[in-house]
Amino acid sequence: MELPPLQPGTLYLVATPIGNLEDITLRAVRTLRECDLVAAEDTRRTGSLLAHLGIRKPLLSYFQFNEARRSEEILRRLAAGEKIALVSDAGSPGISDPGERVVRAARAAGLRVEAVPGPCAVVGALTASGLPADEFHFVGFLPRKPGQRRRKLESLRRLPGTQIIYESPYRVEKLVGELDLLYPGRQVVLARELTKRHEEFLSGTPAALLAIMRQRKLKGEFVVLLEGTPAEVLAADAAEPEPEPDPDPETEAAGADSPAQPEEAAGQAG
Ligand code: SAM
Repeated sequence: MELPPLQPGTLYLVATPIGNLEDITLRAVRTLRECDLVAAEDTRRTGSLLAHLGIRKPLLSYFQFNEARRSEEILRRLAAGEKIALVSDAGSPGISDPGERVVRAARAAGLRVEAVPGPCAVVGALTASGLPADEFHFVGFLPRKPGQRRRKLESLRRLPGTQIIYESPYRVEKLVGELDLLYPGRQVVLARELTKRHEEFLSGTPAALLAIMRQRKLKGEFVVLLEGTPAEVLAADAAEPEPEPDPDPETEAAGADSPAQPEEAAGQAG
């Protein structure tokens, strides 16, 4: 099959493996091979991927702390007709990874942007979790500050569908503990080390998962999925008047936060 060549002046968002190096599409490989430049979150890491694919290409670093400056450079080069592939360390650029800023700027400048879709931990975790995938909400990483974190976790109660959270291995046990306080009756799935040798799905109530985590040290990367709020709880909440907003949302002293109400205490077990 004759494939159309890459289009000059286009930014390609290329998804790369989240573990298993075989998880890269034919189109992603061709885009990396035929582009003029690869903008990468970590040039060393992407350099290794390109070497594995037998591709040599100029690399430009594009990460959280140089996004503004590098976006301008990428836009200038796109306007001059270059074909640029943007990749992150793993998975889909722009999903809890740099990318959004340069995409917005390119679109605002009338430049062409194309996705070259592929691996993404959200999709792998959700589709293999056994939890409903007809409606879901991607939460991404939770805030680190205690008050913001608690408010975010509480806000999930008002959202329908499976909730999907990214969490670092250092905080995953803490997160399951927080879910145990707020949503003790819900099913939670830990999707660990997706596409890698030690891939594993653990499901159960937060308390059951905590018991496992205290017995076994679970290592690696995690996606945490929380069963959605039951329809009757959503309907009951919708009938309630809106709670008063926090008088000072910037107050982050952990001790200043009132304790959260677990669902079961309010007769709303998930
Ligand atoms: N852009 C990536 C994507 O498309 O999924 C996400 C990058 S984000 C910086 C990294 C987080 O994604 C990890 O902390 C973890 O929550 C999740 N993740 C990435 N790879 C994973 C894997 N192989 N198994 C489980 N979770 C993974």
